[in-house]
Amino acid sequence: MHGNQDGFNAMSISQLARTIAESPTLKLNEQAALLREKGQAVIHLGGGEPKTKTPIDALLAAAGQLASADIKYTPTDGTPALKKAIVRYTEENYERIVAPQHVLVSAGAKQALYTLLLTIINPQDEVIITAPYWVSYPEMVKLVYGVPVIVKPEDGRFQPRMEDIRAAVTSYTKAVIVNSPNNPSGVVYSDEFIKEIVEFCEKKNLYLIIDDIYHKLIFDGRKPISPFKYAKDLSENSRLILINGVSKLYAMTGFRIGWTIANKAIIATMNNMQAQTTSCPSALLQTAAVGALNGIQSSVDSLRMTLENNRNIMVRELRSFEGIRITPPGGTFYCLPDFSAYNKSSVALSRFLLEKALVVTVPGKEFGMEGHLRLSYCTSIKDITEGVARMKWALDPNSPREIYIGDRKLVRDWK
Ligand code: PMP
Repeated sequence: MHGNQDGFNAMSISQLARTIAESPTLKLNEQAALLREKGQAVIHLGGGEPKTKTPIDALLAAAGQLASADIKYTPTDGTPALKKAIVRYTEENYERIVAPQHVLVSAGAKQALYTLLLTIINPQDEVIITAPYWVSYPEMVKLVYGVPVIVKPEDGRFQPRMEDIRAAVTSYTKAVIVNSPNNPSGVVYSDEFIKEIVEFCEKKNLYLIIDDIYHKLIFDGRKPISPFKYAKDLSENSRLILINGVSKLYAMTGFRIGWTIANKAIIATMNNMQAQTTSCPSALLQTAAVGALNGIQSSVDSLRMTLENNRNIMVRELRSFEGIRITPPGGTFYCLPDFSAYNKSSVALSRFLLEKALVVTVPGKEFGMEGHLRLSYCTSIKDITEGVARMKWALDPNSPREIYIGDRKLVRDWK
């Protein structure tokens, strides 16, 4: 039983709902906010959203519509203006020409994925998910009565291997989910892997779901790759599906706009699902997304550069820890160092760091990587350096025993 349902008869909750875990990342945000309210000097390295402000073009577009006092239902699959902007975005960024009927707008990439899974998964169908994975994938697969099949590279690296995926395919396999740049590892999958997985899924007639929500947040001069480039069949039979949105690139997480690009039959069916459950995404926020997509794109570049710099600082600071093994991230705003030398239980370690050092981290266990912690560098440089210094103080017996946290001087009295 998950969550706080104390005092209520568990059997009165649906069987399915009882199998679903609460979102650990959202829960951590609540805990951190509570501690901050109490005046504690919390450093949040658990975050999943850039600190930057909403792009001005998005604000102006939304403000214009607000001023019109005319904010009504839109077509379920999105406004013509937003679909047009997404069609153009897809052509520019993926060299893929799609029609508006290939696009469905949802309330965030999260709803896009869920609606997609509802559309393509039958009970007992298996969905292959490569570890480390975004926390919501297995839960969403379970929500549609599917079976998540986690594939973990045996070499302990964060690059999935085709041999592991091939070995996991059974006659029940329906889809593979790929997320690169990857949450939580920050690793960018190799072009070679993307090519192979596209070809493999085509050959096996499997759905390939590419969650590309971080696609331009990529460092070291690398360019985002278009999976469509490797597809041989881009007809209406294609099972290659792309998920994207404005949350991460445009720092518009609160706007809740994401989308799916898929063949017309899938989009039309997803449209039915969405129509019967949520109707359209918010009209106002769709207008803001049009502003972001059609506006000046410099904010995306500057976010990427800021994050690359933050990544460098985070990696440098972490390397001063002796016991940590780190795979440098090539994108996103996360990294997933291996802390197992300090504690094999990431949940216990994360709790310890919050209690002793007031640093929020996310246990790797939630992402299928026990012994690791996910650390975000989408915060300020001060928080990155101070956060890592506090972790080092709490964990490394060779570090100085005293530290200032806020205006309190603390002395380490544990080993
Ligand atoms: N996919 C991944 C890999 C993510 O990390 C997130 C956000 N944490 C999402 C999808 C959901 O994005 P949205 O805010 O658009 O729902």
